[in-house]
Amino acid sequence: KLFNEVQELKGNIRVYCRIRPFLSGENRKSTTIDYIGENGELLLVNPFKQGKDGNHSFKFNRVFGPAATQEEIFLDIQPLIRSVLDGYNVCIFAYGQTGSGKTYTMTGPNLSTKEDWGVNYRALNDLFNISRIMNSSQPNGLAVPDASLHLVNSTSDVLELMQIGLANRAVGATALNERSSRSHSIVTVHVRGADLKTGATLRSSLNLVDLAGSERVDRSEVTGDRLREAQHINKSLSALGDVIFALSQKSSHVPYRNSKLTQVLQSSLGGQAKTLMFVQINPDVKSYSETFSTLKFAERVS
Ligand code: ADP
Ligand code: MG
Repeated sequence: KLFNEVQELKGNIRVYCRIRPFLSGENRKSTTIDYIGENGELLLVNPFKQGKDGNHSFKFNRVFGPAATQEEIFLDIQPLIRSVLDGYNVCIFAYGQTGSGKTYTMTGPNLSTKEDWGVNYRALNDLFNISRIMNSSQPNGLAVPDASLHLVNSTSDVLELMQIGLANRAVGATALNERSSRSHSIVTVHVRGADLKTGATLRSSLNLVDLAGSERVDRSEVTGDRLREAQHINKSLSALGDVIFALSQKSSHVPYRNSKLTQVLQSSLGGQAKTLMFVQINPDVKSYSETFSTLKFAERVS
């Protein structure tokens, strides 16, 4: 089941749902996820509504339950990542509320244990194992404040860079999770190769995107810069949803210009590009309404 074959049938956009396990101290009995099917089905149960009225079923390309390992997930998406070497642009996103496992999926909880490595490290490691990656000598297409370009020759160079990137994520709050929940993190790998048949130079990119937390902010709780920041995040996430939706509908107008995020990723989304969205879910009943809106967002773009 090669990714490229499957892609031809399904188009270039896929949505994977990942449900994180309960963490220690959380109440395992209070879950909103009732059923996970092998073909990507998911049943969400509204804890505040009894009976069938409270059930919502969803279907995605795949659903990974709480027991899914980092390795299992990577093996599934490895062909997609390798397709960047055939000249395809690839974007992988993690979407979800703060605490739902976006960073766990993309980066992993612990860089010193290889089994814990997330998509970023595994992808770079895999690409280094089968090729040599160079930096592009051109500046980025669009000026992004604080973005920088580095030459990397090995996975350890990348690890080091990503650690610097993590440490630099928007300042202003004390806890790292709070900082990272208010910024998007994008790692772009520029790949240059040669077409084996024609010898022509192929240029492509792999974008690995850990999005800002998708939770709605209570207007009564934040004001000033925090409120503007929250509105900005919501706007960029909905602009991303609109772009992916337009692409999935094969619409002739794709609204890239509505946010910086979609402008930055414009050349990597659409056309022959391949997009994968990890929709991250916290199974706790307390997260029900955020989970519901996350799944609705995901359903629209899938
Ligand atoms: P986010 O980036 O969406 O805010 P995190 O990735 O930081 O969320 O995850 C929140 C917490 O849940 C962290 O302590 C993380 O280690 C844990 N976690 C997330 N996903 C998993 C998983 N699949 N298995 C085990 N722990 C997880
Ligand atoms: Mg995070």
